[in-house]
Amino acid sequence: MKLILLGPPGAGKGTQAAELASHYGIPHVSTGDLFRAAYKSGDELGLKAHEVIQRGELVPDSIVIGLVERKLDSLKGSGWLLDGFPRTMDQATALDSLLERRGQGLDAVLLIEVEGEEIVARLKDRRICRDCGATYHLRFKPPSIQGQCDMCGGELYQRDDDRPATIRRRLAVYVAETHPLIEYYERKGQLVRVDGNKGIDEVMAEVKESLDRLIAERS
Ligand code: ADP
Ligand code: ADP
Ligand code: ZN
Repeated sequence: MKLILLGPPGAGKGTQAAELASHYGIPHVSTGDLFRAAYKSGDELGLKAHEVIQRGELVPDSIVIGLVERKLDSLKGSGWLLDGFPRTMDQATALDSLLERRGQGLDAVLLIEVEGEEIVARLKDRRICRDCGATYHLRFKPPSIQGQCDMCGGELYQRDDDRPATIRRRLAVYVAETHPLIEYYERKGQLVRVDGNKGIDEVMAEVKESLDRLIAERS
């Protein structure tokens, strides 16, 4: 299964992707996680990307596309769940030609739709595990022990780009650069819309229902 999760920052892509990856056994590829891991390891690419990410801007297409191509090459033979890529039209067309070169197709693009106010509420209280990258929320998905990851005991922190001014910039970038992809995939008949305004478990149920329907249609 080859899937894309699309939606504004804070829609719940990472949260849903983590659960889908374990439920369906598909590798979860998050470009945001790849950049954060590269930064943590002191990698040059990570340091360069961090500067851009902190401003709420997008990392240049040439860098992101190369990174994703290498990642997908390493996953040859398996499916994948792309979270946070593509984010621009050029990234979408680069992915199309990569798939075409390999004679592969995309199964679906899941669009998680969430209202503006809800997005801000989700992002400003998001917390991330420093060690394993698991995602929490102070109110909507609190850890069992305050400040500590349920999965690995790691310390929880707030991302630099989850501060109000940067959140506003990221939302504007989403509207300008990423929003056009909705129409692009809709025209190709690959878009599946999910109402992301409900609670985590309800959204999960709806996502699984859509995917199970897709799997049944294919077999
Ligand atoms: P994205 O990957 O789309 O940026 P995340 O999965 O990181 O979004 O979710 C953003 C924040 O909102 C996180 O703190 C997460 O715990 C929380 N969250 C995710 N889905 C929901 C939901 N359906 N309802 C409430 N909070 C949610
Ligand atoms: P969120 O889902 O909350 O928007 P991500 O973790 O997916 O955050 O991404 C964090 C940041 O990493 C983005 O704001 C952007 O700066 C950079 N980034 C991630 N994916 C891409 C991409 N496909 N193209 C360009 N920049 C990206
Ligand atoms: Zn952890």
